[in-house]
Amino acid sequence: LPPGERVGFAIVGLGRLSLEEILPAFGECRRAKPVALMSGSPDKAKAVAAQHGIKPEAVYGYDGWDALARNPEVKAVYIVTPNALHRDQVIAAAGAGKHVLCEKPMAASAAEARAMIDACAKANVKLMIAYRCQYEPYNREVVRLVRGAKYGKVKLIEATNTQTMSLPEQWRMRKALAGGGALPDIGLYCLNGVRALIGEEPVSVQAQIHSSDDPLYREVEETVAFTLRFPSGALALCSTSYGAHETRSLTVQAEGGAIQLQNAFAYEGQRLFLNHREGKAEAKEERVLGAKNQFALEIDHMATCILENRTPRTPGEEGLQDQILMEAIYEAARTGNAVAL
Ligand code: NDP
Repeated sequence: LPPGERVGFAIVGLGRLSLEEILPAFGECRRAKPVALMSGSPDKAKAVAAQHGIKPEAVYGYDGWDALARNPEVKAVYIVTPNALHRDQVIAAAGAGKHVLCEKPMAASAAEARAMIDACAKANVKLMIAYRCQYEPYNREVVRLVRGAKYGKVKLIEATNTQTMSLPEQWRMRKALAGGGALPDIGLYCLNGVRALIGEEPVSVQAQIHSSDDPLYREVEETVAFTLRFPSGALALCSTSYGAHETRSLTVQAEGGAIQLQNAFAYEGQRLFLNHREGKAEAKEERVLGAKNQFALEIDHMATCILENRTPRTPGEEGLQDQILMEAIYEAARTGNAVAL
């Protein structure tokens, strides 16, 4: 679309993700453009606005919702702030009559997620949760293969998302701002990814949590292992940690073959391997797809939904379901029992 017809976005919160990924990704969008910023750091925001051709008068503070509401160029708001701030900001954006794209995790609890869905429904604006992997071509291909039963029935899925954390002062280590630790921040990719590819909802979960003595984990958890049981009989083994060497992989074991996606949850570097038996031989194939910026694909999807009045692939309800499941995972870990859903 020519710039004049693209959907104008306001970006709320100019932290690492906004500055390093989202704003640059707009350069690769075809249907969306950044037209406003909301930030608690006016000097940074002015400089960022100048860099991205955003008008200085379209830079707002966190109390600037009324002024933002009056800016007709802003059609959608992209919330990129600490998790526990998402609820109030999504509700404010809906109150300003703007469509909302909200970063993951949607909120700090299922109750907050429900309030966000209700506010957007009442204001008749769209709500999408930024599950970027569901827009990323390799993850899409795995979904297509699994849903098309390429290798028959799925028996086991393994999803791992780990990294090392070393920012003790960061909001991510404060329960009040983050809602939790590794689970909502990075384990969520395992949970959402498994649900997306199998296309079923789990009927029960089991979980274990361990945090080392490091004061880093005073408020939020370090390591979580959880299993999901699906109605078809498939089992998913998911693991996440803030304290382990970076691994971001997804493996599907089906009756007739296996699918492995390396770097599944990373910003780039996905590698897809298919394995099956042909007679007595093991056939192994690497499938190579064109690389695309998944943030640009995700933002353009939201723009398309606004332009064509469609429901996003990952609406608020998708985020709510993950919040419900994360609460069940915490309960399962706390009680040591399986939690039925
Ligand atoms: P950062 O800490 O880098 O940035 C958060 C920004 O939010 C700050 O720079 C600040 O911007 C604003 N902010 C407003 N209030 C506060 C507050 N009380 N404390 C701290 N910051 C505040 O975080 P990220 O950019 O890494 O994460 C932001 C959101 O994006 C989170 O929900 C996170 O889960 C999600 N995320 C998603 C990723 C993905 O791949 N989809 C990857 C990384 C993060 P300002 O100075 O402009 O006010």
